[in-house]
Amino acid sequence: MATTAVRVALRVRPLNSKEQAANYQECITFATDEPQIFLGSDRAFTFDNVFKPDSTQQDVYNKTVVPLVDRFIEGNNVTILAYGQTGSGKTYSMGTGIDIDQEDGQGVVQRFAHQLFDALEKSNTKSGNGGANEDSFQVYVSFLELYHEDLNDLLEPHRDTAESHPSIREALDGSIYWAGVREERVYNAQELLGLLQQGATFRATGSTDVNAASSRSHAVFSVLLKQQLAEDNNSNEINNNNAPSIDKLPIMKRIASKFHFVDLAGSERLKRTMGDRQKEGISINTGLLALGNVISALGDEARKGSHVPYRDSKLTRLLQDSLGGNSHTLMLACVSPADADYMKTLNTLKYAGRARNIQNRVEINHD
Ligand code: ADP
Repeated sequence: MATTAVRVALRVRPLNSKEQAANYQECITFATDEPQIFLGSDRAFTFDNVFKPDSTQQDVYNKTVVPLVDRFIEGNNVTILAYGQTGSGKTYSMGTGIDIDQEDGQGVVQRFAHQLFDALEKSNTKSGNGGANEDSFQVYVSFLELYHEDLNDLLEPHRDTAESHPSIREALDGSIYWAGVREERVYNAQELLGLLQQGATFRATGSTDVNAASSRSHAVFSVLLKQQLAEDNNSNEINNNNAPSIDKLPIMKRIASKFHFVDLAGSERLKRTMGDRQKEGISINTGLLALGNVISALGDEARKGSHVPYRDSKLTRLLQDSLGGNSHTLMLACVSPADADYMKTLNTLKYAGRARNIQNRVEINHD
């Protein structure tokens, strides 16, 4: 069985006041007893989770992210990808925007920061260490923006010489590492969120138009966790000789894991077949296209062991070691319920449906 697990959650935001004033109608309805939605009268889509317009940030977090934080602490890489058209709720849901203090505004990253440090401090106390300073764990953050194929460091905004720009490098063993990326150590949730806010503010103010920045670029907020853990001797078969456990020296192991929060460029940038791309002056986003292909290749049983096209874009290259393998991936697909957005919503549902085929290829027909 493939170890890759991609879950896909769909979040439908409420109609906003502009849409209500324009008398737009909702074109999405919900199944009562399963995570299924209907678009218009004839299309059905099933996901791992479906969140209705009245779902809270807490609901979304509890049902999709809480278990992933446990996997992360156990040493697995996790990636959450927020996908959808501009204005569908990606930044709101992820919490990677600048206005996080609004009512119920705390998104995924804010809740994650508190859950992570609570859990680490609890286990640190249990294992007899005094506190975070004892170094049984270390948490670092980085925050990158990928605009076209250029990587910018949102924690190091004033560094703009070509040599010091972040880049993606390949080690001799074929593994990927990020060079020239600022990784800042943080000791608590507040510090982590302070850096998030700092990078998000730079992202917004560094552009002439906030919406243009978030619709065209991908934002990748990453948390690196390094831990030093005592291995459980009782589970070690070599030592399983009934000797008193006091005689056994604790075996320390180091583990490192990464959690990426990716607020993707607006999915309207993926239009390929619709004639209005040129009319709207929208250029295709190679990252979104490549990401769809990578996720699809990872899940395609028939092509298992064959080529996964990570090299086709910087986005997939950047996330290469956190997509597939033992990593956990959550795609949070966000859509507007308005009938005026029907085609954009349909495209998002198709893209998300394709991602979900990793786990379950026998699904309803999405076409
Ligand atoms: P995107 O990042 O997809 O471009 P945003 O997250 O910026 O979209 O959302 C657009 C607007 O809609 C914002 O003003 C945001 O506060 C609001 N919004 C999005 N999702 C929700 C939701 N589930 N509930 C309430 N407001 C929302």
